[in-house]
Amino acid sequence: MIELTEAIALVEATAAPLPPRRQRLLDAVGRRLAAGVVTDCDSPPWDRAMMDGFAVRNADFAAVPGGAAPTAVELDVVVDLAAGDVTQLVIRDGLCARIMTGAPLPPGAEAVVPIECALDGTAGVHAGGRVRLSDPRFRSGQHVARQGVAFRRGQEVLAAGTVLRAAEIGLAAEAGATHVVAEPQVRVAILQTGSELVDCDREPAFGQTRNSNGPMLAAAVSLLGGEPIPLGIAADKPEAIRAAVAQGLAADVLLLSGGVSAGDLDLVPEILRQCGVEKVFHKVRLKPGKPVWFGRLDRDGGAAGTLVFGLPGNPASSLVCFELFARPAIQILGGRSRDDWHLPRATAVLSAAAKAAPDRPVYLPCRLGQMDGGIFATPLPWTGSSDLLGLAEAQGLIALPAGGGRFEPGAEVEIVLRW
Ligand code: AMP
Ligand code: MG
Repeated sequence: MIELTEAIALVEATAAPLPPRRQRLLDAVGRRLAAGVVTDCDSPPWDRAMMDGFAVRNADFAAVPGGAAPTAVELDVVVDLAAGDVTQLVIRDGLCARIMTGAPLPPGAEAVVPIECALDGTAGVHAGGRVRLSDPRFRSGQHVARQGVAFRRGQEVLAAGTVLRAAEIGLAAEAGATHVVAEPQVRVAILQTGSELVDCDREPAFGQTRNSNGPMLAAAVSLLGGEPIPLGIAADKPEAIRAAVAQGLAADVLLLSGGVSAGDLDLVPEILRQCGVEKVFHKVRLKPGKPVWFGRLDRDGGAAGTLVFGLPGNPASSLVCFELFARPAIQILGGRSRDDWHLPRATAVLSAAAKAAPDRPVYLPCRLGQMDGGIFATPLPWTGSSDLLGLAEAQGLIALPAGGGRFEPGAEVEIVLRW
């Protein structure tokens, strides 16, 4: 049995960032680019109308030197252009095109006069008709987004290191990047052991337990941006567990739950050993979560490998161990910065008494509030390591050091701010 701080340090020392991977653009949401994105097009790709109206020549609206701009201009409409329409027709002085937002300006046209500027009921005039326009605020080139004003073909529009949020994903899509080289999505295989377990869509018979850890751990992985690979349930039989473990060892991380304590059917540590996974630690001074197991399988002479976590079967223990040990491993593998490795911690004032365990640090679900600029923490009723209700209601965990003492209301305690 080792101390919690030592166990966390061992996880941090064992995990190393995976090399960046080329991936589909949408698989890289929230991840950091490892290589810049270079655009294959100008933006806009051509001179684009930015208003519904009439595409005109500047000269027809230019102010007479020393005088006022023409009050009303009559032009022949020679073509109708909706977004997506193109034409070879050249707009010469005295001519115009009826044009909608998003259409390319026809050759010769230089500006758009909005439809609201049409006089005498000519706003609805189409090709073949004549429109009367008056635009007292006319500026040369108005309401046109010029080709390449935003960016030019061949330009790097996203630099290495950029995090791909919604705007960056949109920009990459506009730039023609169907794939990007980015931090890898960490592949996490998830296996539950236990002959008593049934899938959650089943009505459990007497003695059976629904597999809540499977969906819970898959969700925890997804929330970190990882790719959960559910391997389902293996009964407490060495052959069943061994076959599933062999499959899971192809992933970057293998999470098992159940079968790591000291019972007759706690077969997981021995099977992992037989599969060549080297133990880093087994059992941590921690409540809930004492039986947790951690090891690594090396591949390619240590250049690659799989990190393996044997989490306790009890759901609340399983999740606390995921957050304390598997979370930093997944974040490190995914290339996240140190600030993102762990759930944030803070100091809070207890609003009700809480009891420490004599032999190991204890984590208790709590609700959190704000008072006088500080945080207060209220322990939730919680029946222990199999109680997910208390954990689901929690906004944080109170971390009490070993020693068995009673912490009275008003005492300062450390809290882990939860999800
Ligand atoms: P174990 O760690 O295998 O000794 O299991 C401890 C407790 O957790 C037992 O009551 C199991 O039935 C329960 N348990 C194990 N795996 C799961 C699971 N996947 N979902 C829900 N409960 C589980
Ligand atoms: Mg079991």
